[in-house]
Amino acid sequence: MENVAAVRTVYDFPVAGHLCRDGAVHYVRLTRRSGQTQPQGFCPRCEVMFLYQKPQRSRVKHYDGAGATHF
Ligand SMILES: [Zn+2]
Repeated sequence: MENVAAVRTVYDFPVAGHLCRDGAVHYVRLTRRSGQTQPQGFCPRCEVMFLYQKPQRSRVKHYDGAGATHF
């Protein structure tokens, strides 16, 4: 099992950049595991789990029907 020190929500996919423990920006690839709805990635260097979440700022206005615009 992974030793997760923290969980962060990210809005970038499929790669999430973050400022890592060593002061440099590292990029973590997000993958969707079986049984999980959200893609996630893990940085072993700073032990942070990244959970992808779709941006929801224009949820009502920007209605796309059956979700044809997946990235
Ligand atoms: Zn990191």
